[in-house]
Amino acid sequence: MDYIAKNISQITALVEKSSKDSHQNGDTIKLLAVSKGQNVDKIRAAWRAGVRCFGENYLQEALKKMVELADLEIEWHFIGAVQGNKAGAIAEHFSWVHTIDRARVADLLAKHRPRQLPPLNVCIQVNIDAEASKAGATTGEVVALARHITGLPALCLRGLTVIPKPRAGLEEQREPFRRARQLLEQLRKCSPELRSLDTLSMGMSNDVAAAVMEGATIIRVGTALFGPREIRR
Ligand SMILES: *Cc1c(COP(=O)(O)O)cnc(C)c1O
Repeated sequence: MDYIAKNISQITALVEKSSKDSHQNGDTIKLLAVSKGQNVDKIRAAWRAGVRCFGENYLQEALKKMVELADLEIEWHFIGAVQGNKAGAIAEHFSWVHTIDRARVADLLAKHRPRQLPPLNVCIQVNIDAEASKAGATTGEVVALARHITGLPALCLRGLTVIPKPRAGLEEQREPFRRARQLLEQLRKCSPELRSLDTLSMGMSNDVAAAVMEGATIIRVGTALFGPREIRR
């Protein structure tokens, strides 16, 4: 599985080049390896190559991997849709949830976050292209939802997540990421509790460079790191 280490160095090099070209601070960008549909041997290979953060979309699949990988120090990120009946287990087993899109989901995660654990890091998922088919809060809902979350001590609001619709060229790809960055800047000015927001979770295998150029702080990369997904659902 040498190719995984090779892919990781290619992604790291792309992040360095894109951040340099756009005068962003590339050193603070976190590589989140999206391991949904990938087996635990591949996760171990990525871990050996230095990756410590892994993202999963489906609770059952993730819990199984957590047991098999219990010997590794891993920071687990939940990046799928949070179903109400899964919120308790998600709040117990993950360090981050990237996909809060309504107050009820925030309330459930807060209610179930074990008190002996640090607050759950969360991001608001924004439907940045206002697509009918896609999850996420509307841009108009973000401020109220952010204020709601900062009232929940079991959660630590970190920033925004976006998954724009696919676009072809680099400039076209940058445009929705730029809007996400501007939205975070506006949000930070809304109230003192929101000043500390520091996270833009954006950029996947096909648009990492564009996301980094617009200030991504967590990139979520699956197939470009692990190859095609094999576990089908
Ligand atoms: C699957 C997934 C990714 C990774 O997608 P790739 O195109 O394989 O890099 C990133 N973010 C989310 C929310 C996903 O569901």
